[in-house]
Amino acid sequence: MLRKLFLIAIVSGINFGAFSVTALAEKKDTWSIIHAGTLLADARNAPTSQQSIVVKNGKILDIRKGYIAPSEVAGGVNITVIDLKDQFVMAGMIDSHTHVTGEREAHSREIAVTRTSSEYALAGSVYARRILNAGFTTIRNVGGPREAVFALRNSIKKGQILGPRIVAGGLTISPLGGHGDHNGFRPDVFGTPHSGICNGADDCRRAVRNQIKYGADMIKYVATGGVLSQIATGTGQQFTDEEQNAIVQAAHAMGRKVAAHAHGKGGIDAALRAGVDSIEHGSFLDKGSIKLFKKTGAYLVPTLLAGATVVDIATNKPGFFIPEVEAKAKLVGPVMAKALYSAYNAGVKIAFGTDSGVSVHGVNGRELVLMVKAGMSEKDVLISATVNAADLMGLAGTIGTLAAGKAADIIAAKGNPLTDISTLLSPSFVMVGGVTAVE
Ligand SMILES: [Zn+2]
Repeated sequence: MLRKLFLIAIVSGINFGAFSVTALAEKKDTWSIIHAGTLLADARNAPTSQQSIVVKNGKILDIRKGYIAPSEVAGGVNITVIDLKDQFVMAGMIDSHTHVTGEREAHSREIAVTRTSSEYALAGSVYARRILNAGFTTIRNVGGPREAVFALRNSIKKGQILGPRIVAGGLTISPLGGHGDHNGFRPDVFGTPHSGICNGADDCRRAVRNQIKYGADMIKYVATGGVLSQIATGTGQQFTDEEQNAIVQAAHAMGRKVAAHAHGKGGIDAALRAGVDSIEHGSFLDKGSIKLFKKTGAYLVPTLLAGATVVDIATNKPGFFIPEVEAKAKLVGPVMAKALYSAYNAGVKIAFGTDSGVSVHGVNGRELVLMVKAGMSEKDVLISATVNAADLMGLAGTIGTLAAGKAADIIAAKGNPLTDISTLLSPSFVMVGGVTAVE
């Protein structure tokens, strides 16, 4: 009996393989035309009305005036017409700060020693789909169990599962005992630090290169302490200037952009001086920091949703956080919106990012509402979630606007987000790489 089962498994395995090869060989061109009532092709410009977007094999072939018929597309066969004549159509949104393989849970210490990479990857596939359905067709994952994150990114890229494209960081680069380390465990549980933990400039170059070697698209490091690390080490600068310089240089030398998690001013300024591409959170930035932002051209990724979430948990769920974390949450959460407002007013470049995973996945659009509440115009919020986030990731040629040659990452809403941003909380249509996820 066992032998028979074994044979069936082998035979079906072979069949499955053969099927995949055949499917690839016979792959036909896929075409669609989207009739867009209102089209915001580039968030920096005004929208236009009654446009047709011609999509071929996942890319935009053309954008034409008026509602064209399939017969008007030269060479097109079996064209699907998607009717969004009564909707507001725009580029898929981009979340520059996610942790897609997990969600904030109680008992995080137990999870740290029991959950496997496979479990993280499978959970990530569900979370990724929720984020996609919320209108986010690209995410930048800034730190997480790297084997799981890279597997998820690769599977989505191959079309094995449907999700947002993922620009993936590896393990967070952190000093020993810092925000990205496993703290508070017995030495025999986490005695050997993970490959992102480093001390001193040379060791930090090693940690960066290790992430790149195993598949990191970008580097995330912690310039300061963080709210959710299980330790009372504050939110001030942790890596020295020398270590931060080494991290940024090593990453840039290998063509990787760098995001620095930073709350305290000292750490924000040190990261900016080191030449990072973005500051995540930026809670205690001041006028001096803003000068450095403008001098280096770095982006601020505000993550207001994370701030709102940790304040909400600390206030309404006593005992969810350990006391050290609760104290940090109450300190940092309330100042983040103010930091965004002063940076935005001074002309600092803003890229949209939620820290999704601190909040549950799939409500990423709430950040849009919080950004408007903090004082940004709807137009600038849309720019931050499309054009700017694409630029931050070095993907401006592929995503962030809708134009011929770019990815068919397209979303739609029933209302007009330029006057009511909350219409994007539930997109009525989502397409990623030419594949419709929500309609
Ligand atoms: Zn984060």
